[in-house]
Amino acid sequence: MKPFAMLLASAAILVAAPSALPAQNPGQVDTVDSTLPTQLPRTAIPRHYTLTVTPHADRLTFDGEVAIDLEVIKATPSLTLNAADISFASATLAPARGGAPLTGRVTVDDKAQTASIAFPRTLAPGAYRLRLAYSGKINTQANGLFALDYKNKEGKDARSLFTQFEAADARRFVPSWDEPDYKAKWDLTARVPANEMAVSNLPMASSRPIAGGLKEVRFQTTPTMSSYLLFFATGDFERVTKSSAGREVGIVVTRGNGSKAHYALDAEAQILPYYNDYFGTPFPLPKLDNVAGPGQSQFFGAMENWGAIFTFEYALLDDPAITTEGQRQGIYSTEAHEMAHQWFGDLVTMAWWDDLWLNEGFASWMENKTTQHFHPEWGADVDRVGSREGAMALDSLNSTHPVVQQVRTVEQANQAFDAISYSKGESVIAMLENFAGPDVWRDGIRRYISSHAYQNSRTTDLWAAQEAAGAHGLSVIARDFTTQPGIPLITVGPAQCNGGSTAVTLTQGQFSADRQQETAANPLSWHVPVAATAGGSIVKAVTAGRTTQLTMPGCGPLMINPGQYGYYRTLYTPQEAAALASQLPGAAPVDQYGLISNALALSLAGYQPMQTGLDFLAAMPANGSAKVIQRTVGRWDDLYDRLDGDPAAQADIAARVVSGYGPRLRQLGFAPKAGEPAVDAVLRPTLINLLGKYRDPAVLAEASRLFAAWKTNPDAIPGSLKATWLGVIARNADAATWDAIHERARATTGSIERASLYQLLGRAKDDALAQRALDLALTSEPGKTTSSGMITAVAGQHPRMAIDFVLSHLAQVNQLIDISGRSRFMQRLAASSRDPALIPVLENYAQANLAESDRKPIQQAVDRIRSEAAQGQRIRTETAAWLKAHPASGAPAAMGRPERG
Ligand SMILES: [Zn+2]
Repeated sequence: MKPFAMLLASAAILVAAPSALPAQNPGQVDTVDSTLPTQLPRTAIPRHYTLTVTPHADRLTFDGEVAIDLEVIKATPSLTLNAADISFASATLAPARGGAPLTGRVTVDDKAQTASIAFPRTLAPGAYRLRLAYSGKINTQANGLFALDYKNKEGKDARSLFTQFEAADARRFVPSWDEPDYKAKWDLTARVPANEMAVSNLPMASSRPIAGGLKEVRFQTTPTMSSYLLFFATGDFERVTKSSAGREVGIVVTRGNGSKAHYALDAEAQILPYYNDYFGTPFPLPKLDNVAGPGQSQFFGAMENWGAIFTFEYALLDDPAITTEGQRQGIYSTEAHEMAHQWFGDLVTMAWWDDLWLNEGFASWMENKTTQHFHPEWGADVDRVGSREGAMALDSLNSTHPVVQQVRTVEQANQAFDAISYSKGESVIAMLENFAGPDVWRDGIRRYISSHAYQNSRTTDLWAAQEAAGAHGLSVIARDFTTQPGIPLITVGPAQCNGGSTAVTLTQGQFSADRQQETAANPLSWHVPVAATAGGSIVKAVTAGRTTQLTMPGCGPLMINPGQYGYYRTLYTPQEAAALASQLPGAAPVDQYGLISNALALSLAGYQPMQTGLDFLAAMPANGSAKVIQRTVGRWDDLYDRLDGDPAAQADIAARVVSGYGPRLRQLGFAPKAGEPAVDAVLRPTLINLLGKYRDPAVLAEASRLFAAWKTNPDAIPGSLKATWLGVIARNADAATWDAIHERARATTGSIERASLYQLLGRAKDDALAQRALDLALTSEPGKTTSSGMITAVAGQHPRMAIDFVLSHLAQVNQLIDISGRSRFMQRLAASSRDPALIPVLENYAQANLAESDRKPIQQAVDRIRSEAAQGQRIRTETAAWLKAHPASGAPAAMGRPERG
């Protein structure tokens, strides 16, 4: 799954498929580990589902019949499986060897999302076939089987159906053992309108017309897999395909969008052979589709259903009229991420949600590695450090959690899709690959995949495979970083230069944003793979215990963590920090970004004065790496927001950014240039946005000129900058401007552009206009999946207003959010607030609406606001003092003393 950011065939058909599926004996598949947590009693194991569904898209209901071949492993009078929002019509059970079927009595437990089927006599262990007839709901948010409405190519209302099952929503589609280690084979048959295209994990096996203008489509049997990976979609689609590495790769889009699918299709075709080689096991299915759906979710952007990835259109389609360069790169990384899951997650699946990070951390790391491999010019190594920083922001709070965490409720499983699972997981894997070396690590991955294919695994299985491949000592490091929360703090002692070598003592502690004293007195301890250089070659060591001595060649400024593979913070002495900051312009981009982020984080948390962090930030030359500037210029804006209430200091920062980066923007130009470096194309909108916020006259004038032209011609703004320029306008909008954007939103039929325009309405700084956006979001006008995005947009500028609005319309708003995204929606709305007055509001919300076990996202929001409030006054005072001492002209105050006489 990507956040920010789917079969009645005979065995003969399966054999005939070109996929060369390895022979599997269902009776011998290693699944259902009795030592794992479960929400279902371990009395039976499903082996094979034969499922027929008939959607009634107009009525938002569907009918289903399923025959489940299962094995009772413990004598039981009843069977309990998962079901949610399902109405049962009948339940019968027959022994596989024949005999009279038993009629079951079904009792549904809505809260547990289970159905128990009681039989007139105790079932002896053995094989049975359970037949269930039922009906279910088609949802309007992305849970279970859901509908997405849009305007088709001819401008008429259209509706397509899709499924989304991770983490625990297959049970809304089919009563099933809906836990990841109950792997089974699936035969899906769907009865759909004759003029529609139906898609599932495997290719169609047969299709025949049936009564009522329908057709019955049967898909080939899936390999053994987890229920959350099943997929079905039907709609007015078209499909573009290519052949790659002996498989068919395809993109399925709503009819008329085929030309926008080629960028994603080319990426798929490029990545598949690379993964076949990397994983050492060829992609096991005959085809791999990526199915695009209009709309959006507050929970995810794309989902790795096996052989049939689902991605929202905005993250998959390349449309020159609206797609930015950043979004194009996002299409590539989404493909890389979801395709990595085809092995890591789909072929080998975590045994329980405790190990969700194995899926998400790995896919995030592989996405970054693949992007860096094929597109080194995009600067994905810098993005890797960005992931680390995102993870550390959460991991430095008391309410963080270990990468491997206890998951006991469905809601906790949904909440596990956070920055710790994705970004800390990615960062820890990057560190471990660097420790093992890329070849050993890849061999370990190959061993892991081949020995757990079609089965489930746990985190320790991966470490065992790495050790077996030669990564000696990896397990102990991996264990420390995945079973403990938090971030190591490496404090660097004074460097001693002796005979051309530098000797230094590293002292290990724990970095915290909200418990500095507590963690200083009683830190956790890790085996940390550290690296250091003093201008010569890099030396490496693994810390064990409190202090570690390092000696390295050279006597230049000391840099710890060169290459930025380590997951730790580094605190230098003031002298070493100053020396290092002075060398920043010559450092590699990845280190520039890592050093600036590290220094600012330590300053913001109070480990060192703000001056140190600001010295690093200010040392970044305005004409330096476009990628690093794109990533760091926002740090000035972060400080700008923190200085709320000190207009003079804010004006100083704004002037500093405008005078420092205005020339860079003028050099880039206001419009895209053919053949320019991709990093320039991504930097341009970043600078336009920020300089627009700071009311740079040149940027505002260009925005006004383009907006005036756009009002009469929607193509007047270059497509790749449309959202950027309109964003500048929307932020500063008056009522007439807001109305003009609203008018255009209403008239736009393309679903991506339409949603983006409605969300722009939520960007207005003006209170009254923000309120109008909130009111509009609750009408049916924006569309069912767009409204929540408008509320989120309002929260960017007006978090308190958006939260108060949501709380007073909670039931209505909840209908506009995926079930799986609800408890984290409030956290997202609070993300731009530093107001301690919000804390009781959030806590009351959690108490009234969330089970005690499910309040972690709110606790994280509260901890962040509290820790920022605790440091706020110091940050403001020290930053204002630094600004005064370092005039925006670039000349430090110390050098600009008033002349005498
Ligand atoms: Zn994922």
